[in-house]
Amino acid sequence: MRRIYMDANATTPLLPEVFEAMRPFFLEHYGNASSIHQQGQFARAAVDHARDTIAGLLHCRTSEIVFTSGGTESDNLALFGTLSGTLNTLKNEPAHLITTSIEHDAVIRAAESLAKNNVEVTFLPSTTNGVIEPTALLAAIRPNTKLVSVMFANNETGVIQPIATLAAIAHAAGALFHTDAVQAVGRLPLDLSPKGPLKDVDLLTLSGHKIYAPKGIGALFVRRNVRLAPMLHGGSHERQRRAGTENVAGIVALGKAAELANTWLTQDSTTDGPTHLTALRDRLEHGILSQVEECGVNGEGAPRVSNTSNLYFDHIEAEALVIALDLKGLSVSGGSACQSGATEPSHVLTAMGLTPTRARASIRFSLSRLTTAQEIDEALTLIPTAIARLRDLSPTWNKPAALIPA
Ligand code: PLP
Repeated sequence: MRRIYMDANATTPLLPEVFEAMRPFFLEHYGNASSIHQQGQFARAAVDHARDTIAGLLHCRTSEIVFTSGGTESDNLALFGTLSGTLNTLKNEPAHLITTSIEHDAVIRAAESLAKNNVEVTFLPSTTNGVIEPTALLAAIRPNTKLVSVMFANNETGVIQPIATLAAIAHAAGALFHTDAVQAVGRLPLDLSPKGPLKDVDLLTLSGHKIYAPKGIGALFVRRNVRLAPMLHGGSHERQRRAGTENVAGIVALGKAAELANTWLTQDSTTDGPTHLTALRDRLEHGILSQVEECGVNGEGAPRVSNTSNLYFDHIEAEALVIALDLKGLSVSGGSACQSGATEPSHVLTAMGLTPTRARASIRFSLSRLTTAQEIDEALTLIPTAIARLRDLSPTWNKPAALIPA
């Protein structure tokens, strides 16, 4: 059975070009980038080149990129690295962190941990279509607000936040601004240059395995002059911001993935690029909505990244649908990957006001740059059939209200 992959927000396939770029760094070029001999210097040059390419993608300075082990570490470094420094200087006054109720667990759990360590934390609410409103941030700002952290694009709904406006509000209040851009990098053009639209963003997280590089590599953009306490103590790697021998092969892969993302973002043809991917996503979404009753889009009306569609199908359990589609060769997700297998409804969807039942009936389709029109058409035959079968078994589907169990 040929499988169709529609779970790119959980992880993207590794592109062959990315794999070919990193392969020599496992075999011939295994030097440690800190060694002064030729093999070490070869590795160092490759790390520098990758850093240049990533800085090019984000329009920032090379020195502002810190390599990490991925999105989770970058988020933790941004939060702990800025707030632990502030705590030391504030002595008695606790620092205040503002984040949101729709963040990835990498931010939410880090914030909860900080809350246990004398940091005041506010979780901003979401609108029903998944947006964090600037007015909500303005209302939450306090004199001791030191950091605001709002994700760029949500991993479950794809909804894009008004980051430039939110970051400007944080700066006007004298706070730093971090964004978890794991689901935005490589999907949206991002310009962090000092006069660019994201000039007020101080810290930005990215992860390799969401941009067609391997798992276990990522980066944190740290704007010049932002003081960041390291979380890992050891050697003076990454300008003393992240100790540990560099993952040279992973870094090379991330650099290659950034180069390919840059090219892809400028494609605007009918066969490749963001516009093409949006057209495929919309074809899938409209195709499902026109064939299936009692379903809808989570995040409807809000700006969304080109590849993501989160739909609810009343009278089904998402988990059952994920399994049914899996058996037919289609990989999708019932929430964020970190939550699959858990019985709790998605915290993102419930924060948007969905009932727990509707949140448990929601499925995420996330396309990749490799998704084809033929795959969309195949999916459009599988999905309505699977839903109809599950609804036939549902105790609430098409039953008179009197027969629906309480
Ligand atoms: N932030 C977001 C929005 C994510 O989607 C993910 C991964 O799903 C992460 C952070 C964590 O990234 P990593 O898997 O590289 O640790």
